[in-house]
Amino acid sequence: MNQQQAQPLESFIKVAPESHFPIQNLPYGVFRPPHDPAPRIGVAIGDHILDLAELERQGLLADFGAKHRVFDRDSLNAFLELSRTSWTQVRSRLTDLLRADSTELRDNNPLRQQVLLPMDQCEMLLPVAVPDYTDFYSSRDHATNVGTMLRGADNALQENWLHLPVAYHGRASSLVVSGTDIQRPNGQLGAGQFGPSRAMDFELEMGFFVGTESILGQPIPIERTAEHIFGMVLVNDWSARDIQKWEYVPLGPFLAKSFATSISPWVVTTDALEEFRRPLPAQDPEVLPYLRWDADHSYDIELGVYLTPESTNAAVEMTRSNFQHLYWSIHQQLAHHTVAGCNVRPGDLLASGTISGPEKESRGSMLELSWRGAEPLELPGGDQRIFLADGDRVTMTAWCEGDGYRVGFGEVTGKLLPARTTS
Ligand code: MN
Repeated sequence: MNQQQAQPLESFIKVAPESHFPIQNLPYGVFRPPHDPAPRIGVAIGDHILDLAELERQGLLADFGAKHRVFDRDSLNAFLELSRTSWTQVRSRLTDLLRADSTELRDNNPLRQQVLLPMDQCEMLLPVAVPDYTDFYSSRDHATNVGTMLRGADNALQENWLHLPVAYHGRASSLVVSGTDIQRPNGQLGAGQFGPSRAMDFELEMGFFVGTESILGQPIPIERTAEHIFGMVLVNDWSARDIQKWEYVPLGPFLAKSFATSISPWVVTTDALEEFRRPLPAQDPEVLPYLRWDADHSYDIELGVYLTPESTNAAVEMTRSNFQHLYWSIHQQLAHHTVAGCNVRPGDLLASGTISGPEKESRGSMLELSWRGAEPLELPGGDQRIFLADGDRVTMTAWCEGDGYRVGFGEVTGKLLPARTTS
């Protein structure tokens, strides 16, 4: 054997190469184990969940700067508010506990039974209690596509778009975890018109959670933003295009978006994404100094969207995209969010906006895929779609391709149910 070759990091828990949850990932989630109704925090490893509440109770996590227990809880917020140093310390301790050559947990059968639970027997819950949710609009291809449909190709991007990361304030109360059914909304569709939306759409997005808070009146300098960002999830920003079209003038989307937003249950830390850093796309015109950082970067994260009609129950790939298509970085988003003095709090969710790429098959919404109805989508079995039909399930997935393993996000899925009947 070649002594010079570094041993790849492996766990004593067998993890399939296509699994999203190898030892290189260790994403955090909130779950309910089969034997106990009380939610607690765990990390995913292969098809198991490592119960951090139990490890913490037994004093097996070592000191990471918490004054009280943070994992026997129904949200990650108490852990998020600590600091990047604490997050990295816990990650490093968990890596040590799970690695193949580490005996402490591997050779202690009673402890393994206690702290390693089969994922398929656990219920996943919302990982974070989200105080505020902001949705950006950071894909140039998405903004160009939508702008072209609304204003024509010559005026596709608004004047501000290349100078600042455009955003609107979303609604945190209607964030739901993957698996939650989504009811088609009723709303105003035009003057004097009320009824179920006839233009239901998905938006392929990712979002990041703020960890440590910032102080009211004190912007986060862009080179300090990474200290405040804990990790990322998949986001499906369900949208009702007809409600949106009628209501958005002049203050932006409101009820067309606020009826539901789905997120994936596992939060992948920026520590786990470190090796998938990639350069940001070139920004021209040059951005203002508060948005400029030499070390700024994107991530290489593959994205896919699948539609499963109720009639066939067979998933059809709708979109393949990549997080690198985003023009604005998560660091620029956070620096911009706080530059006027707005503070952020532990658990705040900042989403990317629809992640479309330059190719037709990388468009991240039905609005773009069907070009607002001009190019209906043909599904196997003869079905057609311009927007979503009742019974359609939308599933999004994301992963980073490592050398022999994947650092993945699992999925965010939801089924569209018929609207409430109105009289
Ligand atoms: Mn959106």
